[in-house]
This record gives sequence, structure tokens and C-alpha cells, in this order.
Amino acid sequence: MSRSILPVRRLSVAGVLVVAAVLAGGTPADAAAAPATAAPAAVVDAEDVITEVKLPDGATEVTIHVPAPGVTTDQLYQKLKAKGTPGLKAPAPAPKSLAASPPDDLCNLNYSATWSCPPVHWARNGFGHPQVYFVDYTGSSYPVSQVVPVWDQAHGVDSHYTHSCPTTAGVHCVQVSENNYGANGEFGSTSMRFDSNYVFFDGLVNITLNNYYANYSAALRKKFTCHETGHALGMGHNTAVSTQSCMIQGEYEFPSPNSSDFTLLARVYASF
Ligand SMILES: [Zn+2]
Repeated sequence: MSRSILPVRRLSVAGVLVVAAVLAGGTPADAAAAPATAAPAAVVDAEDVITEVKLPDGATEVTIHVPAPGVTTDQLYQKLKAKGTPGLKAPAPAPKSLAASPPDDLCNLNYSATWSCPPVHWARNGFGHPQVYFVDYTGSSYPVSQVVPVWDQAHGVDSHYTHSCPTTAGVHCVQVSENNYGANGEFGSTSMRFDSNYVFFDGLVNITLNNYYANYSAALRKKFTCHETGHALGMGHNTAVSTQSCMIQGEYEFPSPNSSDFTLLARVYASF
């Protein structure tokens, strides 16, 4: 349940490599020479910086800013503060080592959590499940086409990958864009607006990725793309590194949601 699990995981990966090398006719020394996976020691455990503005009509506007690799939460917070970003929340870092028994309710399961409680979500609009189209305006740097079908495994909300928003009434579109915003300390952000019943506004949930940082590892880009996509469905942050969910904060190269993320989303979308 703590970060100390990571070296253990690396050992087990190394063990698999040894077995694979020996089965292939090699020796354990060959396995030792195999390229290492990302070094956990290099991970910066940065948390997102949040802005939240309550609008006069009762809606809430949130932007989730993800620190770029090597940028701390406080550094990004200070940059956003210097720009006068409205609704900026002071960082409140939480250790990723929590109680042995996390809450098990509509908003939490096995260290997975919804973004808000009650959970923010998409409306069905007459469909059996809400239809969420991720409209990919990015280039090859961001594997949107890979992560959207993975999120679609969650029951109760259908995630689709597309290059243009369908004209079908009642479907939702989330734009995923990339731009070069320079060295602003931000890998990307998800902005969202939801009403007082915690229902997302169509067209006002969007993901922006800063391709100034697109030279970082493909694994990290996949993790961040998975993470932002999860926010756009209503997911919050996973709080235990051992769960290996892409919804963990920080530079962990976990490429996918985990089964608790899927179960929690299914609970949320079955609850209304
Ligand atoms: Zn996040």
C-alpha cells in the first residue's frame, strides 16, 4: 500500500526476465543486461493543481492541471498563481500510503475515487448508457486511440474514439487537443463544467495536451493520456501506488485503469 512496493515489483519483473532468458537458451547474465524499465527512483510524485470556480447559475468549473515531468506541484502552482489563474486551490499533498481499509461506497473503492462526491457524470439523454465521444485532434504523440477503447471496458458509460463529433442528438463530445504552450510546467489539463446535479455540460469537458513536453517517454505520455481521459469520465485520483492505476498522480508509468476504476464507474453510472 506504499511506495515501497515498487522495488518489489521491479524484482519480480527482473525475475520474469531471468526465466524468459533462460527459457530462450540464455543465461541469467543475459537477462541482467536487458534494458531496465523506468527507474522508480526517478519518479516525481507530483500531484495535479486544481482550479475550481463556482458560477452564478450554480455550475462548477474545474480545471485539473497536470505537472510536466520534473515539475513539482508547488512549481506549477506558483506559475499558475503568477498568471492570476482564478479559483486556484493551494496544493494539499497527500501521502500515497493510506488506511488498510479504504472506504467502499459510491465514491471510493480500493483507493480508486470519483472526482467529486456525489460523483460528477454524463447524462444518458435517452441512450441506455451515456455516449461519450473523444474527438482526437492530437497527432501521434498521444495514444488517445489506445486508451479510449480501454476506458470503454467500464460498464454503464460508452467511450468512443473519433476524429469528428457526431451530429447525433444526445451524444457528448470531449475534444482532445495538443498545442505547444511552451515551458509552462504543465503537461496538460482537463477542464470541465458540471451543473448543481453533478451532470457534465456537453462541449465543456475538454482535454488539452502541451506538446512542448511531447518528447517525454511514450509510457508516460500514455499514462497521462489515460489519466486525463479518466477525469473526463468523472474519475478522480487513485491514492495507492500499489494499485498501478493510471489515475494515480505523479510520474508513474501505469498505462491503464485498473479493475476498481471500472467497477467504480459502473457503480456511478448505475446509480442514476
Ligand atoms: Zn489528475
